[in-house]
Amino acid sequence: EKVYKTNKHIFLCRGKWEKYMVIAVYPGSFDPITNGHLDIIKRAAQIFDEVVVAVGNNPDKNTLFSDKERVELIKKSVFDIKNVAVTEYSGLTANFVKSQGTNLIIRGTRDSRDFVFEKEIANLNSLLDNQIETLLIFANKDYELISSSMVKEIIRFDGDVSKFVPKPVLSALKVKVKHEKNKKIY
Ligand code: ADP
Repeated sequence: EKVYKTNKHIFLCRGKWEKYMVIAVYPGSFDPITNGHLDIIKRAAQIFDEVVVAVGNNPDKNTLFSDKERVELIKKSVFDIKNVAVTEYSGLTANFVKSQGTNLIIRGTRDSRDFVFEKEIANLNSLLDNQIETLLIFANKDYELISSSMVKEIIRFDGDVSKFVPKPVLSALKVKVKHEKNKKIY
């Protein structure tokens, strides 16, 4: 079995103190990443040894950005945080989480609607694999109104979303929406 060791987390394991690396997976659509997501990533990176941001490939979801674009935008937004990795995944989240050498999922929670939804997914994931643990992190008050869908709606109506998304996302959104509008005209 793989054992990760760092100086950060020390656990009592079968009567012996051991140092383990605690890895948390933050799965989501991130279409695109917002300042709300980024805040969760930054806070998680201070708690856990490594945070794996995992962009879900859900064929049922019609996303504005492709999987690759969403991964790239997150990478550009977290380039200065050392212990964050970004990757895409497909298939069951529970299986992906295990493949990363951990059983820990983190998700953000803005309000009671998020809470009910997150509780359902967390229960479903632990039904699929009872070792999976989900930890919820409350949204920062400054970002709790931000959602990817709200950002997309505002930009499509030429509104200003510069306060809601990281810089690389802002320019990518402008290009994408311009492209979308051109496609509709012709
Ligand atoms: P989903 O994975 O459900 O399609 P998202 O990709 O938008 O949704 O979000 C991924 C996770 O981040 C979810 O747990 C969601 O509740 C959380 N989240 C979304 N927006 C914010 C925000 N502004 N602040 C904190 N957490 C957020």
